[in-house]
Amino acid sequence: MNKYIDPRANTYSLFEFQSKYGTEQDCEQALFRLKWPDGFVCPKCGEHHFTIIHGRRLPLYQCPACRHQTSAITGTIMENTKLPLAKWFLALYVVATNKDGISAMALAKYIDTTLKTAWILLHKIRSAMGERENIYYLGGSVEMDEAFFGGKAEGKRGRGSENKAEVAVALQLDVSGRPQLLKMQVIPDAKGETLLAFAERNIMEGSTIHSDAFRSYGTLSKKYCCDMQKYEPKSKDERLKWLHVMISNIKANIEGAYHGLGKRYLKRYLDEFCYRFNRRHSRKPVFDHLLECSVWSPYKTVAELGI
Ligand SMILES: [Zn+2]
Repeated sequence: MNKYIDPRANTYSLFEFQSKYGTEQDCEQALFRLKWPDGFVCPKCGEHHFTIIHGRRLPLYQCPACRHQTSAITGTIMENTKLPLAKWFLALYVVATNKDGISAMALAKYIDTTLKTAWILLHKIRSAMGERENIYYLGGSVEMDEAFFGGKAEGKRGRGSENKAEVAVALQLDVSGRPQLLKMQVIPDAKGETLLAFAERNIMEGSTIHSDAFRSYGTLSKKYCCDMQKYEPKSKDERLKWLHVMISNIKANIEGAYHGLGKRYLKRYLDEFCYRFNRRHSRKPVFDHLLECSVWSPYKTVAELGI
């Protein structure tokens, strides 16, 4: 159970969802409205008029000025799909409403596909979640540490093995010192330059980074205010407390939901956890948000997804 997700988070009932998105036409029109909220715009020349070419599985929109043809799924994670859009939408609904995540096996049963199709779909959805998480930075007061995933031993910092992956974790705290936003990324080692690159990618310059006394964190002082102090797990000190609580919960959640991980897929599971955690107080239904992410995230081939 992911205790960070607000059980009162706004969701649709299945009945309401089916009333809105029960047919191919409902889904196609929903994508059209998200893609072109102010009316059609030709992606090649900016023309607003279009003619519709029927007779395909999905309507094609043709620009009368440059004759470019496009569809509601072009440039989205659904591009080139052979699956009915109603199955895609149901998959997004199931992922959005299962707060602990869902396995490919369970999703295949929900949407009546092969296991492989459900597996690819889940990776595409997680990829869209990751794209969304990439667009903002943490700032202010941020706790940072590294953790090992997928292996038994804690191991020595910076020394990965085939079985375990090292992950950088950063947690933004609010003014009362409680967890606010989370970022995680698989890292090749725990060298100073690696941790600095992670921080530059995820944390606004000038923020205060609280860490333990591991010497690599000294490198971060080039761009951040560094609060490095030896971490004492058994002390009553509140420093890094939330970060370590988070890390143990992430491990329990990910390994529980997915029955052990392949190292190569870990990035996507981390992206999904961060996406859900960072949206735990959102008033907007997660499905609506996830649908928007799916429209705005670029299409990726299976090879590009690395699966
Ligand atoms: Zn055009």
